[in-house]
Amino acid sequence: MSKIVMFDMDGTLLDLSFDDFIWNECLPERHAKIHQLPLSESKEKLYQFYQSHRHTLVWYSSTYWTKTVGVDVLKLQQEFQSKIQARSGCIELLQQLKEQGYICWLVTNADRASLRLKLDNIAIEHFFDVIISSEQVGYAKEDINFWQELQRLHPFNPDETIFIDDTATVLKTAEKFGIQHLFNISQPSSLKDIKQHQDLEFKTLDRLTELLSILNEIDRKDNDVKIA
Ligand SMILES: [Mg+2]
Repeated sequence: MSKIVMFDMDGTLLDLSFDDFIWNECLPERHAKIHQLPLSESKEKLYQFYQSHRHTLVWYSSTYWTKTVGVDVLKLQQEFQSKIQARSGCIELLQQLKEQGYICWLVTNADRASLRLKLDNIAIEHFFDVIISSEQVGYAKEDINFWQELQRLHPFNPDETIFIDDTATVLKTAEKFGIQHLFNISQPSSLKDIKQHQDLEFKTLDRLTELLSILNEIDRKDNDVKIA
């Protein structure tokens, strides 16, 4: 059976600089303008919201944020959609995996509307057999229920699965669920510093295409075990 490679979207396949820009720059500016507040006050307010909702399903919901902060967040993303970019090596990696017979899934916490917007801008949709948003699943990837529900919707064998995500909390939950091969990303945003490997708990990819040789190595070991 072909192995499944599951990919996170933002910060893994796509450059997180777009999301950082939207959430940390545009939204505070728009919020300040709409509510006629000093920018520092908007930033403080939003920061508090962010802190209290991090790693929950609503954190990823444009609808929720639009209601909560009074700024149409989806519209904001549409306005700046020309800034959406793939990370270096993204297309090359997906192409190679496809050629080598791997099955690729896109497993994202982005809500359906943001997912659609990203896929309309970066032509990667055709590489995936399964594309799923945590909004459809009903739990964020940080919640073990996400993985149980995903497996119910799309059966897969965690022992044979490879999963790449730039969020350690997500990887930890995937590990708890039993996914065997987990990888972190050292530079989710091209505009931010590279994270140091010693600070990261999981094997970490500096370049996306590094995954190809790692997978070949995993395959080789699996075959050795079978022969032995
Ligand atoms: Mg991510």
